[in-house]
Amino acid sequence: MQPYVSVVIPVYNEEENLEALFGRLTKVLDVLGRPYEILFTNDGSRDRSGALLREFHRRRPREVRVIDFNGNFGQHMAIMAAFERVRGEVVVTLDADLQNPPEEIPKLLAAIEAGHDVVGGYRKDRQDSFFRRYASKLINAIRARITHITMRDQGCMLRAYRRRIVDLIASNSETSTFIPALAYSYAANPTEVEVEHAARAAGRSKYSLYQLVRLNFDLMTGFSVVPLQLFTLFGIALSALSGLFVVYLVIRRLVIGPEAEGVFTLFAILYFLVAVGILGLGIIGEYIGRIYQEVRRRPRFVIREILEQTDA
Ligand code: UDP
Ligand code: MG
Repeated sequence: MQPYVSVVIPVYNEEENLEALFGRLTKVLDVLGRPYEILFTNDGSRDRSGALLREFHRRRPREVRVIDFNGNFGQHMAIMAAFERVRGEVVVTLDADLQNPPEEIPKLLAAIEAGHDVVGGYRKDRQDSFFRRYASKLINAIRARITHITMRDQGCMLRAYRRRIVDLIASNSETSTFIPALAYSYAANPTEVEVEHAARAAGRSKYSLYQLVRLNFDLMTGFSVVPLQLFTLFGIALSALSGLFVVYLVIRRLVIGPEAEGVFTLFAILYFLVAVGILGLGIIGEYIGRIYQEVRRRPRFVIREILEQTDA
C-alpha cells in the first residue's frame, strides 16, 4: 500500500536515543490512521545504531526502511539518499536525538493539508548551549540578508514537504547542500509553525565547531554570491579612497615637503589590508573548492545496503 507520510531520519551514532525515538514516533504515526513509512539512513555509525535499525525493520518490515551508508557522508546527504527513495505524498524530516519531538508531526501535517507545500518548524524555546543559540542567531541574520530565503530558524530540521518539492530537491546532484534552503527555492506556498524543542536526550552533538562552520559555508556559498560581490564593492571603495589619498600625499609633498613620521600607522593600515586580502582569497577558495568538488563528479554518498520490503 502506498504510504501517505514518509518520515526521514538521519542517524549517526545515536544508539542511546533510537529505542525511545522509535517508540514515540510509531505511537504518533499509528494514531494518524494513514499508512506511513519511516526511512532511517545510517550515516556510517560506529556504535550499535545499525543493529538497532535492523531490529526496527525486523519488527515492522512494512513501515521501516533502512538505508545503510558505507561511511559518514553527513546529515544532508543522509536525508538526500532518503529523499531519492521516499514513497509517501508528504515527507517529514526530523533528528534522531529527540530534540525534535515526534508529537509535533500532526501539526506539520495539518499545515501541509491546509495547502502549504513546505512547512518549516521554528524552535520555540531552543534547548542548546548559549554559544550555539547566539551564534545561530547571528548566522541566521547574515543568511537572511545575503540570500533570498526567508526562514526563521535555519537549524531546525523538523519540517514537512509535499512530495513534489522533495522530488525537485532529490533531482539536484550537488554534493554540499543545505536541504531546508533548497526547499525554499522551490516552494510556491511555504509557511512556518512553532515547534517544541528538547535538549538532546542522550549522547553529544555530532557537529564540532569546525563542522558547523563548514555547514554554514555550504549554506552561504550554495545560495548566494553576495560574499564575492561584497569584495568587489569593498575593492572599488578602497581604490577610490586610495586614489584620493595619493592625490593628497602628492600635494602635501609639494607644499609641506617629505615626511617620515607615522610608520606604525602605516603598518596598521597595511596589516589590515593584507588581512582583508587573505579573507578575500579564502572566500574565493570556498567557492572554487566547491566547484572542484562538483566537477570531479564523485558519488556524493555510497550505500552499502538497503533494508526494505518491496511490495509484490
Ligand atoms: N547526523 C548525521 N550525520 C552526521 C551528523 C549528524 O546523520 O554526520 C544526524 C544525527 O544523528 C542527528 C541529526 O543529524 O539525527 C542532527 O545532528 P545533531 O543532533 O548532532 O546536531 P545538532 O542538534 O547539535 O545541531
Ligand atoms: Mg541535535
